[in-house]
Amino acid sequence: MGANILIVEDEEKIARFVELELGYEGYATTKAFDGRTGLELAESGRFDLVLLDIMLPKLSGMEVLRRLRRTSSVPVIMLTARDSVMDKVSGLDSGASDYITKPFAIEELLARIRTALRKTMPQQESTVLSCCGVTLDTARRTVAVNGTPVELTKREFDLLHYLMKNKGLVISRETLLENVWGFDFTGETNAVDVYVRYLRGKIDDVFGLKLIQTVRGVGYVIKDEQ
Ligand code: CA
Repeated sequence: MGANILIVEDEEKIARFVELELGYEGYATTKAFDGRTGLELAESGRFDLVLLDIMLPKLSGMEVLRRLRRTSSVPVIMLTARDSVMDKVSGLDSGASDYITKPFAIEELLARIRTALRKTMPQQESTVLSCCGVTLDTARRTVAVNGTPVELTKREFDLLHYLMKNKGLVISRETLLENVWGFDFTGETNAVDVYVRYLRGKIDDVFGLKLIQTVRGVGYVIKDEQ
């Protein structure tokens, strides 16, 4: 049940690319290739967020935004050309939620979208995972065991998050390194074991749980049943 996003962008390759990537993230999308169509769609009230290019045929992005703001407070992220500082300034003045400079990394755009949506749809971002009395709030980045808060470092949190998100699945060290540490990781694969030990020290040892189980020769798993 992702948010509904309108993409107003006349460069079809960019529009198509953004559409695909947003689709992978679970968002529903609609495309418009000129300002006039974009404005009509945006005014329909069907969308939770609008991605709006500035240089558009028929009606410029700035003009679309200006007119849209008469009737709607939907979050708008402007897509600006490289280094057009004036665009950024006047975009934010005329009521854009944010702007991103083209060419952009898709991760950057996704992060901006999440931030903009969080402001208007707070309930959607607050995902609480739970298992064996442990709750992990991905929006607040907090962890508690039976209501008692547990302080984790960023890496410990990310590792626990990944395992809880994949509850019931045995995850290999390599997969954990790739997803929690990232591709830039250059250390030893026993980093995973070290961080699992940290987590056990802060959670299992303190609260008498066996949250993270070792599967010999394979990896780690968090299961509901102990
Ligand atoms: Ca354009």
